[in-house]
Amino acid sequence: MKDNYYIGVDIGGTNTKYGLVNEKGEIIFSGSFNTKLYKNPKDLASDIYYDYIKKSNEQHIKASGIGIGAPNGNFYSGCIEFAPNLNWGENIPIVHIFSEIFQLPAILTNDANAAAIGEKFFGAAKEMKDFVVLTIGTGLGSGIFANGNIIHGKNGYAGELGHTTIAESNRKCSCGRIGCLETYVSSRGILQTYKEKCASDVRETVPDDMTTKEIYNLALRGDEIAIETFKTTSEVLGRSLANLILILDPEAIFLFGGIANAHPILIPTITEVINNNVLSLFKDKVKILPSALINKNAAILGSTALFYLKDN
Ligand SMILES: [Zn+2]
Repeated sequence: MKDNYYIGVDIGGTNTKYGLVNEKGEIIFSGSFNTKLYKNPKDLASDIYYDYIKKSNEQHIKASGIGIGAPNGNFYSGCIEFAPNLNWGENIPIVHIFSEIFQLPAILTNDANAAAIGEKFFGAAKEMKDFVVLTIGTGLGSGIFANGNIIHGKNGYAGELGHTTIAESNRKCSCGRIGCLETYVSSRGILQTYKEKCASDVRETVPDDMTTKEIYNLALRGDEIAIETFKTTSEVLGRSLANLILILDPEAIFLFGGIANAHPILIPTITEVINNNVLSLFKDKVKILPSALINKNAAILGSTALFYLKDN
């Protein structure tokens, strides 16, 4: 049988990566581009095309289609809509652009859905029909599988868990509203929590560019404020996930994204808070797990898996 290969493209505000992926989820070759250097998405797609053609000629492999994962990527319209970190206008017809340049069919979804589809086809959710993947990084996204299907919603916007509001927060969100979950559960949110806790201590000013990884490393070394910061983050997330569990009854919730690397410190508190906040029949029913693709490019893999989802 002839192998099928698809191109997966992960468009991010800082970097855009692509890879040629086989049916086993192995990346045959890949490339990375600095998104900020491109004034328009056509130039970016052209550069990816030339890189792909060069490498595919060397290896004598051709792709059958292009899956694209992008922030605010809409599965139905094929457009990236109102993405705050991309400066290419409000409505970017990315599917049209890529399919014209590559002369191949293209499909788009948002990056969190791509991660969830990647988990389903190449990760730890192969046998699961009901699960959620949380992508925790600059923001908080979620990709939801229910009854074996990814949930797009009526308009393609389903899964905006990061912008559900929580009672604990009066922080301003990047979306312009006040009190979104991602004002606590994201790199920016974690830094703010750490800063607030440090302000009540006698510490020097916390630098604005301190990373979640640095705060996590402090926690691993026993720094109490850093440990408390992750505890607060886990508690806030745990209470939100308890509500999500009551609605969806998932088998597992996977943590994905840079911050998910802190899962050894996050998961015990999240699990405890969930158990304290769900109906007793849900207790210990839902597994909170690190994504099996945590150190791989799940968005590239998941974007290509869009084609398998379509075939099913
Ligand atoms: Zn928001």
